[in-house]
Amino acid sequence: MRRLRNVKIVATLGPASNDYQMIRGLFEAGADVFRLNMSHGTHDDIRKRHEIIRKVEADVNRPIAILADLQGPKLRVGVFANSSEELEEGATFRMDLSPAPGDAKRVQLPHPEIFAALEPGASLLVNDGKIRLKVNECGTDFANCTVTVGGTISNRKGVNVPDVVLPLAALSDKDRGDLEFACELGVDWLALSFVQRPEDVTEARHLARGRAAILSKIEKPAAVKAYDAILQVSDGIMVARGDLGVELPVYSVPPIQKRLVRGARAAAKPVIVATQMLESMIESPVPTRAEVSDVATAIYEGADAVMLSAESAAGKYPIEAVTTMNNVAMSVEKDPTFRSVIEASRVVRPGIDCRRDRCRRPRDCRATNIKAICCFSQSGTTASLVARERPHVPIMALTPLMSTARRMALTWGAHCVITEPQDRFKGAVLAAVRAARDAGFATTEDQIVVTAGVPFNVKGTTNILRVAPCDERLISRVDPE
Ligand code: PEP
Repeated sequence: MRRLRNVKIVATLGPASNDYQMIRGLFEAGADVFRLNMSHGTHDDIRKRHEIIRKVEADVNRPIAILADLQGPKLRVGVFANSSEELEEGATFRMDLSPAPGDAKRVQLPHPEIFAALEPGASLLVNDGKIRLKVNECGTDFANCTVTVGGTISNRKGVNVPDVVLPLAALSDKDRGDLEFACELGVDWLALSFVQRPEDVTEARHLARGRAAILSKIEKPAAVKAYDAILQVSDGIMVARGDLGVELPVYSVPPIQKRLVRGARAAAKPVIVATQMLESMIESPVPTRAEVSDVATAIYEGADAVMLSAESAAGKYPIEAVTTMNNVAMSVEKDPTFRSVIEASRVVRPGIDCRRDRCRRPRDCRATNIKAICCFSQSGTTASLVARERPHVPIMALTPLMSTARRMALTWGAHCVITEPQDRFKGAVLAAVRAARDAGFATTEDQIVVTAGVPFNVKGTTNILRVAPCDERLISRVDPE
C-alpha cells in the first residue's frame, strides 16, 4: 500500500483503538506509526496492542513503526481528605512532605528533590497549569506559596516546575521496567518524556542497547535551552506541545516548534509535531478550521510526522481523525507554495562530504523522467539524508533489515521495502527497478536514481549514485558488472 503524501501520521492507541479491526482501519486511513503510551494500561494491554499491530503489518505487507512513549518522572501531589479543594486566587497554600491528607491550606508533594531545587519566586503549576502557585519561602521539606491562579485541586494531580532544572533521574523505576519490557517486545522507537539534559538521552540509549531508536520529547524549558546538545544524542525529536505549553507561555510554543523542526530537519533526524492537533475530533466528526490550519502549518514547516493523541486513543472518531490528517497532508503537499516554502527553508551546509553530497543531488530530479530515488540502506542514514532534502520524487528505502524499515516508517517520504541482501551493484539496480515498478512509482519508460554503498552490507559506505532505466534489458546493456 503506497501513501500519496510524504509527511507521516502517528496515531496513539488507547481504549478507542484496541482491536484488530480498528487498528487495521487506522492503518488503511493513513497511520504509519502507532504510539503506545506507557502512562496508561498494563504490560498485558501493551503486549496485546503490539501483537495486533504486528499482525496488521504482516497482513498489509508494509513495515509499521511502533513508538513506546515512557511516562518519565511525572510529579504529582498527594491526596486530600475531601478528594478535592477549591483554591482561591491570593490565598496561601503550602506543599510539604507530610503524607497526612491535604485540605484547603496544604497538601503533600512527595518529591524531596523539588524542595531541594526550589527558590523563592519559582512557580509551581498544578493540573496542566490550570492552577498556578508562586513560592514565597521554602526549605528542604516545604514550600509556602501564594495562589496566583485559582481552581479545583484534587488527588494526585500533576505538578510542573518550569523555572528550575530538577535533579530528577531521567528514568523512574517504572520507566526502566517499561523500557526493558518495550525493548523485549520489539518496539522500534522509545520516546523519553521530560528530558532535561543530553545525559538523560544517553542513559536511555545505554539501557536500550540498540534495540530501539531514541526519540526525545521536548517539553521542558531546560530541554529547549539544551536543544542542540539533546538533538545530537537523539535519533528523533517530538515537539510535545502539551507540557511545553504548560511549562512555558502558550504563545511561545509556535516559534519553539519552528526552531525544533528546523533543527531536526537540518540534522536529518525525524521530528514529530504532537498534541491537540485535532482536539475537537475527540467529540466531533469534523475538525475546526483552526485545527486543520495547525496540521497544515506543521507540514509546511517540513515536520516528518504529525501526531494524534486522545483523538485516536480515546475519542469517538479515530478513523475520521486519521483521514482528516491524511487529507490535509495531500492538500498541502499538492500546493505549489508548499514546494517553495520547503525549498526556502532548506539548510545550506558548507563543505563537501561525499555521502552527504550524493544524497543532496537527487533533489533536482524534477527536469528529468526520474520517478523515484532508491536508497540501499543498512542503518537508514542514507535514506534519511535524502529525505532531509525533501525531494520532488518518492524516496524508496531498500533494506534487508526489518528493524531499519520499521524505524524509517517515521521519516518524511520514506517508502520502505525489504529486499534480499545484495552483493553486486547490478543486482541492486535490478532489485530497485523491480521495487519501484511493483510499488507503482515507475514504469519501464522511466528512470530511477539508485544510491548504494559498495562493498554492500557495511554501514556508512554510500559511494555510488546511478541513474538507471527501468527496463531490465537496458540495465544489462549499460551496467554490465
Ligand atoms: C505532550 O506533552 O505534548 C506529550 C505528547 O506528552 P504526553 O502525551 O505524554 O503528555
